[in-house]
Amino acid sequence: MRRTKIIATLGPATDKVGVLESLLAAGVDAVRLNFSHGTAEDHAARVTQLRQIATEQKRTICIIADLQGPKIRIACFEKGSVIVKQNDPFIFDAALDDNAGTAAHVGITYKNLPKDVSAGDTLLVDDGKLSFKVLTVKGSEIHCQVLMGGKLSDHKGINRLGGGLSAEALTVKDKHDLQTAVNLDVDYIAISFPRSAADILNAKQQIADLKGHAGIIAKIERREALDNIEGIIDASDIIMVARGDLGVEIGDAALPAIQKKLIHQVRAKNKVVITATQMMESMIHSPIPTRAEVMDVANAILDGTDTVMLSAETANGDDPVRVIEAMSRICLGAEQLPKSVLSHHRLDKTFSHTDEAIAMAAMYTANHLAIKAIVCLTESGATALWMSRIRSGIPILALSPHARTLRKMALYRGVYPIHFSMPHQEPHLLDSQALQHLVRAGFLHSGDSVILTRGLHIGVLGGTNTMQILQVP
Ligand code: PGA
Ligand code: MN
Repeated sequence: MRRTKIIATLGPATDKVGVLESLLAAGVDAVRLNFSHGTAEDHAARVTQLRQIATEQKRTICIIADLQGPKIRIACFEKGSVIVKQNDPFIFDAALDDNAGTAAHVGITYKNLPKDVSAGDTLLVDDGKLSFKVLTVKGSEIHCQVLMGGKLSDHKGINRLGGGLSAEALTVKDKHDLQTAVNLDVDYIAISFPRSAADILNAKQQIADLKGHAGIIAKIERREALDNIEGIIDASDIIMVARGDLGVEIGDAALPAIQKKLIHQVRAKNKVVITATQMMESMIHSPIPTRAEVMDVANAILDGTDTVMLSAETANGDDPVRVIEAMSRICLGAEQLPKSVLSHHRLDKTFSHTDEAIAMAAMYTANHLAIKAIVCLTESGATALWMSRIRSGIPILALSPHARTLRKMALYRGVYPIHFSMPHQEPHLLDSQALQHLVRAGFLHSGDSVILTRGLHIGVLGGTNTMQILQVP
């Protein structure tokens, strides 16, 4: 059983007949709807199809809506893409028609960009694959010289080296998409380019106003976010190390230290962390990953990430299913390493909640006794979250009657969400029902030792206060 969770971004490649079925069968835990591409109808159609397949395959799949944010993007080309060559002139034009891009010029989504840049700036496009030197700004037109050329296609992002562009985290489009995401009842909404906790709290308030239930993912992809990281982590449910834009803004050399530090900080605050972007990039076209990609995925797991994310590899790749199979295989390999299973996490801490203390005691015991699994009866998923902050090789079987709780837990490392209706309110009967349920589902066998945690009163949030060591009859 793989502990690290995998997110696949949906797109044209996963829309092909039979692909989504195979992705789920290959073990995807969550899907990302990328609101930078596609219409509300596209996202709705994908959600409907996904839910249908998940039901057929009896899988708990988490859905993430990733808002575009104030990402500055180029508009579209007449023919979808062009090749630009080094030293050639090129114009980014805020006044150009959205579909009129050619090898000489292209439109931009953020109309203020010509006011935010000046001669001498470096603009980086498509996660830094192409770069442009600003020569002069004339009204709506940014005249550039191509420093590094290549293929330029519709909607690619633009960053300024060094960061510092003025746009606010939630754009008009995002507010509209937030409504779409709430209507689709997604499990998490990812906020792009937040600068501070205020941006996250603002998004949270808007989701609450729309009566949405989604948790919040803060994408760390601006230099400014690093200065306000403590507050951003506290305000969010999940942090994404968004290496694409972040790497462009802070420079690639600073990225490894930031990834390690962020993952550590997030876990220490009992939050969940996703590592994203270019993890298996070569597999957009190649049938196997490069050795560097294998090492990168494994190192993110050793750093302690809960989840790894695929972007274009699945959304636009030649073979999304093969990518999931490769990633899954690499995760399983990395999870065998001693560093993945041993923990000193929070050994020196005091705890503030009863359920937190039970979660810690359960993990400590499980890691030091021959225990097959931890069975956690949970309403909100909080106990499972605390448990999963401790590194371990022992599966956390999280049983809940609530579909939303189950889907949210699908991103927690080492946690296996399992639907259980909690038929008996009498605790003793409930315990044996839970074990029988897990035997029937193939997770446990007669004679296995397990740790079971639950509340004394079933149906109470945050009520976990008991831990038992049981043997499966
Ligand atoms: P994106 O975010 O894929 O939406 O740009 C992730 C990143 O920047 O790494
Ligand atoms: Mn990004």
